[in-house]
Amino acid sequence: MSRYSPFDERTYQYLLSVSVREPEVARRLRDETQQLENAQMQIGPDQGQFMQLLIQLLGARKTLEVGVFTGYSALWVALGLPDDGRIIACDINEKYTTIARRYWKEAGVDQKIDLRIGPALGTLDELLKANQGGTFDFAFIDADKTNYQNYYERVLQLLRAGGLIAIDNTLWSGKVANPDENDADTVAIRQLNEKLHRDERVTVSMLTVGDGLTLAMKR
Ligand code: SAH
Ligand code: CA
Repeated sequence: MSRYSPFDERTYQYLLSVSVREPEVARRLRDETQQLENAQMQIGPDQGQFMQLLIQLLGARKTLEVGVFTGYSALWVALGLPDDGRIIACDINEKYTTIARRYWKEAGVDQKIDLRIGPALGTLDELLKANQGGTFDFAFIDADKTNYQNYYERVLQLLRAGGLIAIDNTLWSGKVANPDENDADTVAIRQLNEKLHRDERVTVSMLTVGDGLTLAMKR
């Protein structure tokens, strides 16, 4: 795997080999996604398994995903949800999510995933308008980085107290730590990181999982 990792490749492969139990359908989805040019956008199997553990710890039923791509992260979460568990999954890309739907169906979790095609901000606003505030247990934020603050604010309203937000790519290959990197994505992630550090509405922890995974629990 060529993804960014704070570990050397050999140690990362070791971690995978002694800890990850990746379902066969998930491995095939990962293989198929490797053929796409944006394959590096996908989370790693260690992170998928970790997120599944988190939602089981939470006893999550109602969850959100902002940024689906070919459906790999949603697949891990869906496989960990109870039969009546749900993911409202947001993405703008029909081509990627067609692949996602195919694998969700194969894995027998398609009935748990409500895919909403359209800008995620619009979908989140609709949920708020429909009085869904305070009702979600878990959300994974992993779409366009310049909207991260907007997603965070909406998702925070949608979560119940004790609910958890997981935000992906918060280390951004280390660019956030380099003051010479000031492209729009890097600046947006850096600003969110700083805001979260001060934000008394949540309990935070920033993990060196994948490309940086920040957990924020709503108080
Ligand atoms: N969570 C996925 C990876 C997501 S990649 C995984 O781990 O496999 C980011 C996704 O965000 C892309 O599929 C892209 O189409 C989507 N995206 C970008 N801008 C968006 C927007 N405004 N609203 C919803 N989705 C968006
Ligand atoms: Ca990501």
